Amino acid sequence: MHLTRRDFSKLTAMGITAELLSSKPAFPAQPSGKKVGYAIIGLGRIADLHMQGIHASPNSKVTALVSGHREKAEKYAAQYGIAASSIYSYETMDKLRANSAVDATYVCLPNSMHAEYTIRSAKAGKHVFCEKPMSTSVTDAEAMIAACKSANVKLMIGYRCHYETTNLAAIKLIRDGALGKVRSIQSAFGFNAGANEWRLSMPLAGGGPLMDVGIYCLNATRYLTGEEPAAFSAYSTNDPQDPRFNHPNSVEEDLVWTTKFPSGIVASCSTSYGANMQGYYRVYGSKGWLQVTEAFSYQGLHLTAEYERDAEKEADRTVHLDQLNPEKIPHQFVNEADHFSRCILTGQTPQSPGEEGLRDMQYIQQIYKSAGIKMA
Ligand code: NDP
Repeated sequence: MHLTRRDFSKLTAMGITAELLSSKPAFPAQPSGKKVGYAIIGLGRIADLHMQGIHASPNSKVTALVSGHREKAEKYAAQYGIAASSIYSYETMDKLRANSAVDATYVCLPNSMHAEYTIRSAKAGKHVFCEKPMSTSVTDAEAMIAACKSANVKLMIGYRCHYETTNLAAIKLIRDGALGKVRSIQSAFGFNAGANEWRLSMPLAGGGPLMDVGIYCLNATRYLTGEEPAAFSAYSTNDPQDPRFNHPNSVEEDLVWTTKFPSGIVASCSTSYGANMQGYYRVYGSKGWLQVTEAFSYQGLHLTAEYERDAEKEADRTVHLDQLNPEKIPHQFVNEADHFSRCILTGQTPQSPGEEGLRDMQYIQQIYKSAGIKMA
């Protein structure tokens, strides 16, 4: 069965919403009319998608740009109707403080720059949406949280899957007990990285595929189980013949880790910059299993499941699910913008605050330590 948009609205009506991820109550309705203004910092691939999402969100708009490339910024400014006076460089971005059209920033820079630009945004009095991974060290993540608290601004980390329908449906199935007692999870996400990408440089990336895409598997094992990992064991390898991975500043190429959760659930995860690994997870429980393919993609997420339930007729006892999510780009980015703007307008804490990013940084540190990799 392939779900239509209407079917997905029904899932939402059934309670498959972001609130599932926490015990917090649903958000109050947003005050009407006001749109939250965003400055986008670093105009690369993810920034482009975020601008599409913000533009399509009813409570958000792009009002300023921060870039090292003025011409590129001018093109985006023309596309989104942004005044030339609201284009900044990295050197002048602190002047955002005086720009009343900007309520918040989106930090879309290479990983090692997240801390500096989050802290400078907070000091300019702006709320901050920061891409994952939150930082490249636990110390930086703590400093980012402290800076936002002291400036009394909100901090949200860009965990798209926390606001995404298929991931939320998988969580709901597990929480409702459809799979019985969950015992084991497998997950992977990786890609063959292009040479000369900042992602391959330790000083800019702070780590390799674990920081970039493996973090999705790590975070998924946490939201699927609703538990925090108790222990990690990890191995990593680099091909000594591959110039992308054989120099002193190179990041890890392949990494696998296993995790044990307090209830006894075990998870095994893989990530790579040397091979394409379609993002997926499989969850095995005492009554059945579920799988999501393209689990961390922008579209095309596909949930399948098979589990046993109590039913009078034998024919009704095995449930088969096959749900292809019809939502298209930039849907997930609209969800993130809607959510953060609603938090800013209503004073609520985001579902994926700085503390969520900090936890992943602490686990990433443990995984790297187990694999014998030194973080910056
Ligand atoms: P890109 O390389 O496409 O863009 C990064 C931008 O940062 C550049 O275009 C540039 O913008 C700016 N920049 C400033 N200094 C540097 C530098 N020294 N080297 C390179 N770029 C620099 O990266 P992505 O958009 O793919 O990734 C940005 C962040 O977003 C990363 O932290 C990544 O992990 C995260 N990400 C999140 C995704 C998600 O789905 N949530 C998906 C992809 C990435 P300018 O030219 O305007 O100065």
